[in-house]
Amino acid sequence: MAGEVYFDNNATTRVLPEVAEAMLPFLTEFYGNPSSIHRFGSQVGQKIADARAQVAALIGAADPIEVIFTSSGTEGDNAAIRGMLEARPDKRHIVTTQVEHSAVLGLCQHLEKKGYRVTWLGVDENGALDLEELRAALSEDTAVVSIMWANNETGVVFPIEQIGSIVRARGIPFHVDAVQTAGKLPLQVKDLPVDLVTISAHKFYAPKGIGALYVRRGITFSPFMIGGHQERNRRAGTENVAAIIGMGKAAEIALGRLAEDALRIGKLRDLLETLLLESCPGSRVNGKGQDRLPNTSNISFRYLEGESMLVLLDQQGICASTGSACTAGSAEPSHVLRAMKVPADWLQGAVRFSLSRFSTEEEVRYVNQMVPAIVQRLHGLSALGKLGQQERSQPDPGSSSTVGIRG
Ligand code: PLP
Repeated sequence: MAGEVYFDNNATTRVLPEVAEAMLPFLTEFYGNPSSIHRFGSQVGQKIADARAQVAALIGAADPIEVIFTSSGTEGDNAAIRGMLEARPDKRHIVTTQVEHSAVLGLCQHLEKKGYRVTWLGVDENGALDLEELRAALSEDTAVVSIMWANNETGVVFPIEQIGSIVRARGIPFHVDAVQTAGKLPLQVKDLPVDLVTISAHKFYAPKGIGALYVRRGITFSPFMIGGHQERNRRAGTENVAAIIGMGKAAEIALGRLAEDALRIGKLRDLLETLLLESCPGSRVNGKGQDRLPNTSNISFRYLEGESMLVLLDQQGICASTGSACTAGSAEPSHVLRAMKVPADWLQGAVRFSLSRFSTEEEVRYVNQMVPAIVQRLHGLSALGKLGQQERSQPDPGSSSTVGIRG
């Protein structure tokens, strides 16, 4: 198979040609500052308003003014949580989950060090939340609840409507990290008990470095970025005009193809799982029993190390990911899979395949052709490694391998 198989679309997606084309005039001809009074600037302001309406339509917001453009999903998550804490200074408690993206996880760990109390809700072996645990965690002191819509590593989708109803019944603001959901599942935030929703454009075929935060009308929100009057005083800083236009265009295209894409990509993902589970004994799908994103598959290969798989997959032109955080040279097991209590012999060998609108059946079959041989090779190295360890009484500096093995 010629070329590259890019199955790492939860990390980022390719920018659509139509999106790049829509952006270009705003990097060349229409370079006015949208805050300027003159026509050259204000015409750009009108285009930003159009993009805001396109993004509002994608997430099903009642009014485009509820959409604030940000620099990323990470900024949206930070702005939402910090914005709620600042607006409610008397409250010192946050509720989130153990399986959040680092944008929420890292922030909440930081806030914990600063003296906030954080409840980290756990998940079961399938990746599901216990709603009774959530109910019990909420208190008079809770300033905000922040829970992701779909998990970036496993694709597991949380029941946001049920969660939101529990949170709203207590009058607590509810933030949802929908970075992996926008463009993949239909969203109607206006009809749901959610108050703040974060999305990021590079997950749906627009550039990196642009995102949006939905803030429901009536929610008291303190801005994270302070300075000028942009975004109705809710996010200071001259707008990233071309990227905003690109995000709007990508949102419009995604909305138009949502059902069709989800169906087609879901079928390919299911085919990939069926083929791989058959051709690789000792493999399993993490989170399989749950409602999942149609494009995401997290597969564990028993006794292997995901990082080693990635290196060998890459040699065959296949881009995937472990979805786990890595520290220099040593693979840390995924915090998501650990929270799901994935047994030790399956934990390190997780590989995330995330498909896109551009994925094909030919690619799926190619991956299935390559993976069994890679698994066998790693098992062989692993067996040799074990034998070597037994035979060697002292470390042999000449025998190191570039491929990490977990025996
Ligand atoms: N939240 C989730 C669930 C994500 O998957 C990501 C990115 O992978 C982010 C937040 C951060 O988004 P960004 O890369 O735009 O900062």
